[in-house]
Amino acid sequence: MLEVKNLSCGYGAFEAVHGISLSLQPGTITGLLGANGAGKSSTLMCLAGHVTLNSGQILFNQEDISRLPPYERVRKGLAISPEGRRLFKDLSVEDNLRVGGLTQPKDKFTKDRDYVLSLFPRLGERLHSLAGNLSGGEQQMLAIGRALMAQPKVILIDELSLGLMPKVIDLCYQALEALKNKGLAILLVEQNTDRVLNIADDICVLESGRTVWQGTAKAAAQDPDLVSAYLGMH
Ligand code: ATP
Repeated sequence: MLEVKNLSCGYGAFEAVHGISLSLQPGTITGLLGANGAGKSSTLMCLAGHVTLNSGQILFNQEDISRLPPYERVRKGLAISPEGRRLFKDLSVEDNLRVGGLTQPKDKFTKDRDYVLSLFPRLGERLHSLAGNLSGGEQQMLAIGRALMAQPKVILIDELSLGLMPKVIDLCYQALEALKNKGLAILLVEQNTDRVLNIADDICVLESGRTVWQGTAKAAAQDPDLVSAYLGMH
């Protein structure tokens, strides 16, 4: 569904990611791992159209979307829950969801919102609170919910569990399972290696903007060198 071929991207003269390739299929989760500064967020932001692509191609259902502006990628079905969440803090939860659904017909709002609330019932209790007053966990749910309002086929999620309590992380991971079962392709950036290896189908490990390992999550978990060298587990 989303084919990324030899993608290089960066900031002006500084190239952060050098020639990575990914293939995201419907109903699968791909974990993008690596240390701080490895290029994970830059990759997601480039796929979403917010960081400049230097070379390579992004194909969405065989169509080259590499040069499309972000909102057109969203229209095609590619949404992002970005690092730092970037919510509209002075808007209510419901209005953040409304913004996420701006690419959709207005009469679908209630149905789409209710689907997000079924995934994250906690957001239903905070519907009229300002996003800036939510807890970290609620904000993460809202960032994912806002992305889902665009009815994506591919969702890019950055730093899912960073700073969240284990109980909230469980809720977010349950939601991911539900989205996977619904047929979405999910690209997940996560520091919590254990969690990713458990849920992902495929893994890509970056170091200094290059792919150093790529394969199934099952193979990753069974590769002792990979686990100790790059994934910070023993
Ligand atoms: P982290 O987990 O710390 O976010 P990451 O793997 O997501 O790490 P990136 O944030 O993509 O890594 O950073 C990759 C490289 O790009 C780093 O060297 C970083 O300093 C640089 N970088 C990131 N954002 C910018 C920016 N806006 N301008 C210039 N350089 C940037």
